[in-house]
Amino acid sequence: MTEYSFDDLGIKDTILRGVYAYGFEKPSQIQGKAIPHVVSGKDLVAQAQSGTGKTGAFSIGALSRVDETKERTQLLILTPTRELAEQVYMVIKDISSYTKITCLKCVGGTNVSMCADELRKNPHVVIGTPGRIMDMMERHHLVTGDIGTLVLDEADEMLSFGFKDTMHMIIQRLPKETQICLFSATLPADILELTTRFMNDPVNVLVKQEELTLEGIRQFYVNVKHSDWKYDVIVDLY
Ligand code: ADP
Repeated sequence: MTEYSFDDLGIKDTILRGVYAYGFEKPSQIQGKAIPHVVSGKDLVAQAQSGTGKTGAFSIGALSRVDETKERTQLLILTPTRELAEQVYMVIKDISSYTKITCLKCVGGTNVSMCADELRKNPHVVIGTPGRIMDMMERHHLVTGDIGTLVLDEADEMLSFGFKDTMHMIIQRLPKETQICLFSATLPADILELTTRFMNDPVNVLVKQEELTLEGIRQFYVNVKHSDWKYDVIVDLY
């Protein structure tokens, strides 16, 4: 287990309750390292792969910054795919369950006017894919003036899916002082360009390769002689 405790990371009390109720006991490396910076409002570049607990890291940190008494969109989270947006949405809903924080998923392939109607209610948190979010900004359905935090999840994936210009345009439509938290498994030149162009003296957090497996999860393997025995073996294990 890590030396960190969720109690010491500056997390808002109502969010902390949500974290424990969700079943998390101790922060993973990325959570322990990143959450205090996210909570403090610093720009952040975190290099971490899937499965390290980064969704928890930015969700817990950024939700702590949301003022639920103010009915404005304050947190925008961009993900490369609809599936990832759905996963993040579920985590945000669970972790914020002891608050009145409202949350909207806004992704391609869904009804545009429904999305626009929901945005008119100024949800505190909006999670979406770059194309649909840009569209909602251009049509002035997504009000950006109070967005205090932007999270770019799997930023390298978003760039490799051809969203570079869209991401830049989204950032340029946000207030200058908006905190940017970028999570990426790799840091190619396009990411470095983004950090130098748009971020303000970001803190760098790196989760080293050997720390990638979440603490508390142990891995085992069973050597199966023939490939078609795999199913029976897994059924036996269950
Ligand atoms: P990532 O976003 O890096 O892919 P996730 O945040 O989805 O990783 O975490 C991977 C898995 O580990 C999920 O099932 C999540 O619920 C679980 N997990 C994340 N953080 C913790 C924690 N602090 N304690 C226990 N389980 C955790």
